[in-house]
Amino acid sequence: MTLRGTTTQFYVPREYIHGDRVALPEEEARHAVRALRLSVGDELVAVDGEGGWYRIVLDHAGREGAGGHIVERLSDVGEPSCRLTMAMGMIKHRGRFETFLEKAVELGVSEIVPLITDRTEKEGLKERRAEKILVAGLKQCGRSRLPVLQEPMKLAAFLRRSVDRGFCCHEAAGSDETFVRALRDVDPGSSVSVLVGPEGGFTDDEIAAARQTSYAIVSLGARRLRTETAAIAAAAVVSLICESA
Ligand code: SAH
Repeated sequence: MTLRGTTTQFYVPREYIHGDRVALPEEEARHAVRALRLSVGDELVAVDGEGGWYRIVLDHAGREGAGGHIVERLSDVGEPSCRLTMAMGMIKHRGRFETFLEKAVELGVSEIVPLITDRTEKEGLKERRAEKILVAGLKQCGRSRLPVLQEPMKLAAFLRRSVDRGFCCHEAAGSDETFVRALRDVDPGSSVSVLVGPEGGFTDDEIAAARQTSYAIVSLGARRLRTETAAIAAAAVVSLICESA
């Protein structure tokens, strides 16, 4: 379903919704009442991060909190037809990983898996910061599902998971195997996994393992991209192709 409304959405997890009643979480209530100066009778749009989209009319708004009732509910607003998992080699520079997280939400990614590979030099990220970035992106971009950020996982374990279509981005893939061409026959509604290597790239053995697990080895063009650029570019291509399917 396509973008609805033009304003920033509120994030209201399911536990704050009971039937048609909604109590805004503390921080969201403060934002509504103090920053936006919304009051009783005003409308806002909230999403629950699990596909629920709600138009809400406030029936109380004050120092002690804010809440209201649902006047319209929809599902999967702003969600692409494919379920996209981006498995990205962990990188040394945390800021670059966080840049990827922000863009991944906007590009409709469903799941993010930090990969531990042979050339991974860092293992760890700040989970609370990452969660904040994802929620901020969710509120800003008009989608209704919060991407799941998994714990770092070894490449071999990731390759054992089942998926409809798998792609491994590799700078030495050759121009006859471009990602766009490989994605043309992806069915709407399928699950898609995309692998992107860390700064040092994938080893030959890793590429061979991906190939053996039916991952297509694909190119993103004739230039060597940084890890997070490659991941953003790949997610953009999948989201556009899935949305035009
Ligand atoms: N090992 C390489 C660079 C790795 S770039 C070197 O130093 O020469 C990091 C990751 O981004 C790669 O593992 C790959 O997954 C992805 N990537 C970068 N450029 C790419 C391209 N042109 N095509 C496909 N994937 C690319």
